[in-house]
Amino acid sequence: MSKWTFNAIQVRQDGQIEKVGLSPHQFTRIDKYIAALEAAASSTVANPIFSQYFVRESVVPVLGAIVPAGNIEYGLCQALHGEEAIVAAYRSRCGRSTQDVVIGIIAGSPGNIATPCGNCRDILLDDLGTDFEIVSGVADGGEAVVANMSHFLFSKFKTLSTIEIHPDLDNMIKVTIHHGDLLVNDAFSPKNVHPERKYHALIATKVERFVGAHDVMCDYHPIYALRDAIRQARRKHDPFVQSVVIVSKGSGEKAPHVMYKDRQHLLSLNLQAELLAKEENDPPVFLATYDDKHKVTGLWQTSVKQWLPLPFTSRNFGQEHIELLTNYYKGIRR
Ligand SMILES: [Zn+2]
Repeated sequence: MSKWTFNAIQVRQDGQIEKVGLSPHQFTRIDKYIAALEAAASSTVANPIFSQYFVRESVVPVLGAIVPAGNIEYGLCQALHGEEAIVAAYRSRCGRSTQDVVIGIIAGSPGNIATPCGNCRDILLDDLGTDFEIVSGVADGGEAVVANMSHFLFSKFKTLSTIEIHPDLDNMIKVTIHHGDLLVNDAFSPKNVHPERKYHALIATKVERFVGAHDVMCDYHPIYALRDAIRQARRKHDPFVQSVVIVSKGSGEKAPHVMYKDRQHLLSLNLQAELLAKEENDPPVFLATYDDKHKVTGLWQTSVKQWLPLPFTSRNFGQEHIELLTNYYKGIRR
């Protein structure tokens, strides 16, 4: 008899996530979920010297030994997250072989659904794909929740016409292309690997437009375009996002791929605005591709919240933390 009881999650028609019982297939995998949680609970890898937020993790491959992992903090509030540690440790043990894995996470309270941060979604997506399970629980037992990697991804953007683009949006797209080309600093990324990820970004507030572009250096720890625009918005103490534009070169077949790390940073800026304005807001995000003559070839729409399901934000840490954060943001307004 396990000390954990298991539930799964599914996406409703309206896009909301709800808990459900395990599927018949998942019932056959309960031994893997238990093994993943037990290995994570006994993992001694985590060393969060700043946050003291211990995230103990493990990965259970079909073949080979269970691999413990955890979060390691360094520098100044710089973190190697548990999921990043998982990828490195798992590949060290198992090489590049492709096999079914289950990730176990011990953190939070019973019944919590795992919420990998944006950057962890980026590395999990690229290295382990879109279809594997993550089970989360606490060491003492209780409800544990099984999610699939696909629950943390979103690319079902609404397609818009490129024939009649609203003049304001058309103007913002042109501004983003022009100023993004002036700002971009990327001598190091290969031209033909994931060209849909080479995008510029524009954040429009009530009074300003902030353009950002990728800043890539030889150590391959880039600042992505949205974060670049966010820095400018913060310098003007203007986090009040009204709309966002993303542009990348492309034929219109697929939308620009905005890294989940960047989506999360945008959500954090929007949270700052929500806390200061005392009201929730979900600004639209427009994604455009364009050709060599800067003609728009594809146009899509989503929103700051829609394209990052099950987000990892300060709201995950509870109301007391939100009040501290609100007071901090009020304090830095000049
Ligand atoms: Zn993470």
